[in-house]
Amino acid sequence: MADDAAAERARMVERQLAARGIGNPAVLAAMGAIPREEFVPPALRHEAYADGPLPIGCGQTISQPYIVALMAETAGPPLGRVLDIGTGSGYAAAVMARLAREVFSVERHPPLAEAARERLARLGILNVHVRAGDGMLGWPEEAPFDAILCAAAAQEIPAAWRSQLAVGGRLVLPVGPAHGAQELRVLTRTGPDSWADRTLGAVAFVPLTAGLPGPA
Ligand code: SAH
Repeated sequence: MADDAAAERARMVERQLAARGIGNPAVLAAMGAIPREEFVPPALRHEAYADGPLPIGCGQTISQPYIVALMAETAGPPLGRVLDIGTGSGYAAAVMARLAREVFSVERHPPLAEAARERLARLGILNVHVRAGDGMLGWPEEAPFDAILCAAAAQEIPAAWRSQLAVGGRLVLPVGPAHGAQELRVLTRTGPDSWADRTLGAVAFVPLTAGLPGPA
């Protein structure tokens, strides 16, 4: 079982990542090391290395492996402190934990945050700190960050993220409407008030939602 997963993981790295241009050896190694099957619901374990997102509960998804790798590579590892918005399963945070010294991860749905925290602890990943809350506020006490990654599409980039990014740091996020045309963007803070902005292409993410979920 574990051997099967390792073989599937190696195939995923080769066919979904390296073949599509992910070239950073540290990113490929991180993607080859984190057991994605531990981050998906038990009923979907057999699909853990499929080339797409999968449902993880609370109406959310674990991102496609290629997107996780692309965002990690774009963030520019090796990194110091990283802010990860939208913990979800904790998978992207676990990958970033191998590419950064400390990862601070915020999830809006408390059950997902709790499950991710337990999963990361069980896997012995100690440099990810998970908080349940509104990620649009960032994590001011832990700023500045060398990179900020967001796994939910923002209509507009929250001001808190811009102010919590270190000069020289990168903000990698999908921008666009909930079910409309979204693009993956990279904003580099080139000075206290100056930014460079580029686009990596079209993507489809769950929406970034303000505030905390109300009672069901
Ligand atoms: N990185 C995750 C992907 C999760 S999908 C993984 O690897 O599994 C994006 C996540 O963003 C969802 O879990 C969603 O609940 C969360 N999210 C949406 N709006 C948010 C907000 N304002 N603050 C924090 N998390 C948010």
